[in-house]
Amino acid sequence: MTAGYSYKKIDHSPGGNAAEIISSVNGVFSLRKDDVRAVKEYAREVSDLIESLDTFQQDCCRAVCPQCTSICCVNRHAYHEHEDIVYLAALGRKMPSYDIAVEDTAPCQFLGERGCVIERRLRPHRCNSYFCAPLLDHMRGLPGREHRRFIAGLELITRKRERMLEAYYFCNSGLRPFDRQ
Ligand code: SF4
Ligand code: SF4
Repeated sequence: MTAGYSYKKIDHSPGGNAAEIISSVNGVFSLRKDDVRAVKEYAREVSDLIESLDTFQQDCCRAVCPQCTSICCVNRHAYHEHEDIVYLAALGRKMPSYDIAVEDTAPCQFLGERGCVIERRLRPHRCNSYFCAPLLDHMRGLPGREHRRFIAGLELITRKRERMLEAYYFCNSGLRPFDRQ
């Protein structure tokens, strides 16, 4: 049996659905402690994989981003989506506090002088999976082994993340998560 994942668009603005969704996700983790084990395990694997690629990504950004004239870290990307909320809850980590007064088009509220102030593994997924053309060109120019290792790591993150969300979906539906490698 396969299951789709019911993605919910999050609205973090006042009166939006963010608080309700965060509370619902946290409810699943506190009420179904046995069933969420698989979700937590997959989340830990995703977190470790993200960490394992951090140095490579940092080095690439250090080489390319200082020349950038169109920085991608704008504030509309600062907000965690439903899937990120599930992932953070599975890791037992809290959401960051958002300043909802910052305009969507302004520099991201989490962009510090030395880059993003959120640990890479806790950033919104989109932040770790977006690669602009100059960054991709730079990566392709690196030794093939490094590049291949990075791509393989990204693919594994995608697969483990899907497993995590499927396992969560099963818990949220009142069904037990399945084990799949
Ligand atoms: S990742 Fe690309 S778009 Fe974003 S700041 Fe670096 S060079 Fe610019
Ligand atoms: S990487 Fe960090 S600074 Fe950049 S958009 Fe994402 S949260 Fe903001």
